[in-house]
Amino acid sequence: MQIEIVTIGDELLLGFTIDTNGAYLARELAKHGITVARRTSVGDGAEDIAHAVGESLERTGAVITTGGLGPTSDDLTKPSIAHLFGRAMYEDADVVASLHRRWKALGRTGEIPRSNLQQALIPVGAEILVNAHGTAPGIWLADERGRWVAMLPGVPREMRGLFADELLPRLRGRMDGPATVVRSSTIRTTGIAESALSDRIRALSALDLEGLGLAYLPGWEGVDLRLTARGLPPDTADARLARVAAQLQVTAGEYTYGTGDADLAAGVLAALRAAGQRIAVAESCTGGLLGARLTAVPGSSDVMLGGIIAYHNDVKMSALGVRAETLAAHGAVSEATALEMARGARRALGASVGVSITGIAGPDGGTPEKPVGTVCIACDMDGASKSFRAMMIGDRGEVRQRSAQSALSLVRRMLLGTA
Ligand code: AMP
Ligand code: MG
Repeated sequence: MQIEIVTIGDELLLGFTIDTNGAYLARELAKHGITVARRTSVGDGAEDIAHAVGESLERTGAVITTGGLGPTSDDLTKPSIAHLFGRAMYEDADVVASLHRRWKALGRTGEIPRSNLQQALIPVGAEILVNAHGTAPGIWLADERGRWVAMLPGVPREMRGLFADELLPRLRGRMDGPATVVRSSTIRTTGIAESALSDRIRALSALDLEGLGLAYLPGWEGVDLRLTARGLPPDTADARLARVAAQLQVTAGEYTYGTGDADLAAGVLAALRAAGQRIAVAESCTGGLLGARLTAVPGSSDVMLGGIIAYHNDVKMSALGVRAETLAAHGAVSEATALEMARGARRALGASVGVSITGIAGPDGGTPEKPVGTVCIACDMDGASKSFRAMMIGDRGEVRQRSAQSALSLVRRMLLGTA
């Protein structure tokens, strides 16, 4: 089955709202073996909506829209698609009744605003997709040739609920033949460049991708390897993904820290817990980001003791015991300073592991010797220490995120004995 998605709303064209509805629907449909042939976004104008939906119908005869079902003057999806199908609109008594029930349940008194009742206007011959998550019902409208449009609300939570409750069961009922699916599996890596990872994988002559697609997806957390199976029955897809993912994990070796949406901080905390270690952090340019990553993980308090944000050099000295001579000889952004910060945090907080970050996040403060993006990271584990200096790419926000991730990666590799 091939379908098209049309997402509706001026805010999408202006870039104020990211089209997460389109992305969500595309992912869900692929999981169930339905191919999305095209995604289009249009503004709220009635003609624009009718054009876009009309063209999509010509191509695939199957269209899902989101947005423009609300009670306000800019919500024109229903009338414009009704017009496209040559249908009049009528006020549906059941929908009016459910709007009244909802109005009462919310403790509201008096009459429902006239504009709310607009949501009860339904194209003649349409089926109502009951919205248990909000007021605007979804609409299923088909013509005599079997071409159809499913209209879903724009509010993402309502859209997801209606899709699962009402639309997906209908689509499954219409699928003919054994279902084939598009499924993916992700292997997360960090601390290795995309090119180096690709060389490693290419060097593995025994690797058989079994026809799966392999994408390298770099970001501030590292490089994700995404395997994708297309056009296979669900069981075959899952089995191939599992086999190839296992081989890739072996190939990525110490650089891989998990699959799916695994979080490096959670992995580090689990490894520290297993090793009976407790951690303290000392942060300069990341200003608490590393501590935030660790404490974002539920149950981290048995392993994460705390941290010191030593942004000013005075605090590096007074709170962490960094020596004035070290700062004078090597500067605040240096491996020597990072090492003293890590040791200082470990001692000050009574931890067994101290980890530190000091760097130049920019946009100012760079020098020829230490350009913006220069970051020094150190880890002190019961007195055994490691440090490194790296160039983080990106803007201030990205340099800070990459630094926190690299610090976590160093702790992880020290625990594994691969640092
Ligand atoms: P509407 O149903 O058009 O009144 O949309 C209601 C709200 O849903 C909008 O204010 C947006 O915040 C959100 N929304 C609409 N379309 C999308 C979309 N394609 N992706 C994400 N959010 C959306
Ligand atoms: Mg809208």
